[in-house]
Amino acid sequence: MIRFESVTKRYPDGTTAVDDLSFEVAEGELVTLVGPSGCGKTTTMKMVNRLIDPTSGRIFVEGRDIATTDPVRLRRRIGYVIQQTGLFPHRTVLDNTATVPHLLGRPRKQSRDRAAELLERVGLDPAVHGPRYPEQLSGGERQRVGVARALAADPPVLLMDEPFGAVDPVVRDRLQKEFLRLQATLHKTVLLVTHDIEEAIRLGDRIAVYGQGRIEQYDTPASVLGAP
Ligand code: ADP
Ligand code: ADP
Repeated sequence: MIRFESVTKRYPDGTTAVDDLSFEVAEGELVTLVGPSGCGKTTTMKMVNRLIDPTSGRIFVEGRDIATTDPVRLRRRIGYVIQQTGLFPHRTVLDNTATVPHLLGRPRKQSRDRAAELLERVGLDPAVHGPRYPEQLSGGERQRVGVARALAADPPVLLMDEPFGAVDPVVRDRLQKEFLRLQATLHKTVLLVTHDIEEAIRLGDRIAVYGQGRIEQYDTPASVLGAP
């Protein structure tokens, strides 16, 4: 579903963020990218939806070389969830969630119905939370809206950058559980960045353990735990 072939990313200042990286993510697989800050996880992720282009190497999504795929078409196939959810502050939660279906051409009423359905899926009450503005939500609730919005176009691929990083441990635990339940029904192909090895192990079907610009280990949670 996602394939990296010898991908290197060097930033203009000479920093090699990703160094000759090759790996594959199967359809419906949840892969966690874990490692200390600055080892290239976010750079890896941003190359998948072409927020950043590699210096060399090739990346395939759904069998297509993304260098020759229309970025707009590509991004419709990929939902993106970030820690600072990027919600529009002056739009209600429902409108934030309905924007994508509407942009994709659904009529307003249908987009709003779809948004309400998505909010329910992530554990929010559309009647209660839908009319609120993002600042009127707790951190955990905002993250849920971020997930709902990323699911709005029903993309087969989800990129999640520290999606549960900004909330306290109790909320994080609940969001992780809910996300696992959701993923069990959605079967998205997921790349999830975290610096928390426990989160990586808990959520990942496979774990990519990063060192500087490289994946040092790519394996199941059991093998990563069992490693010396
Ligand atoms: P991580 O997500 O693991 O924290 P990043 O992918 O954000 O790591 O960064 C990897 C390396 O690339 C770091 O050394 C970082 O400082 C550098 N880097 C990231 N973005 C840029 C940029 N726009 N210009 C120059 N260097 C960058
Ligand atoms: P948390 O403990 O997760 O940080 P908060 O204390 O921020 O949660 O919020 C607790 C509850 O109050 C949440 O359900 C949130 O939606 C609601 N809430 C927070 N701020 C506002 C607000 N300005 N208006 C209405 N409801 C709010």
